[in-house]
Amino acid sequence: MNYKIVFPEGKRKAITFSYDDGQIHDRRLAALFDQYGLKATFHLNSGTLDTPGFMTSKELNTVYANHEIACHGVQHLWSRHLSKEQMVNEIWEDRKALEAKTGRIVNGMSYAYGEYSEAFIATAKALGIVYSRTVNAIHGFNCPADFMEWHPSVHHNDLFADDRLLNRFLDPEDYLDMPLLYIWGHSFEFEREQTWDKMEALCKKLSFRDDIWYTTNIEYYRYMQAVRALESNTDGTMLCNHSNTPVWICKDGKLSSI
Ligand SMILES: [Zn+2]
Repeated sequence: MNYKIVFPEGKRKAITFSYDDGQIHDRRLAALFDQYGLKATFHLNSGTLDTPGFMTSKELNTVYANHEIACHGVQHLWSRHLSKEQMVNEIWEDRKALEAKTGRIVNGMSYAYGEYSEAFIATAKALGIVYSRTVNAIHGFNCPADFMEWHPSVHHNDLFADDRLLNRFLDPEDYLDMPLLYIWGHSFEFEREQTWDKMEALCKKLSFRDDIWYTTNIEYYRYMQAVRALESNTDGTMLCNHSNTPVWICKDGKLSSI
């Protein structure tokens, strides 16, 4: 193989954020991401929208204009307690409601309480969910093997407490290929723990860097699906991308997309 896959426009690294539950503090968080050019996915429970303390339906496409909206279950239920019918309802009705309110395709998810099972994954896949995030932080930068068990890098509080992981990401070892920093949490934590200033400092530190691709969960998923679906001949001199997502490569020091 005499080429190297890179992120769009030749970026070496990627960052994505993932925030759950859709409380009103998402307004301030989304504005912070916008201010610093960062991209995020917001996982919402359609059943709590328009109730006290939660986002309203009519503001979804403005507050989250630059970000992905994804599922988190209609009512934020413990998935291992559900019958098959309840599992279907929790996911399918969430997709339907969020799509009706936004006019978007909504096919990403995160597991309520971080809880999942083989049955819940199978149900979600059958209902068109293409990825789902857990709460099991890996403290690393790996691409998930199975996007239905997408383990994040780190919860934001761990980055506030110790900056070693962040510094490693900003100056990664040469052997790390296409590292992804995936940060997750809830916007209400910044309000409850009075850590908005820490989050702003983190956003500022990560922002506007030439070597980082800022992306939503679903954009990263789509890009890596296209990368994995590339076909090549056995000696790597021919490469074909059958998807409609351009894939970027670096060959002999030259950047191009296929
Ligand atoms: Zn949640």
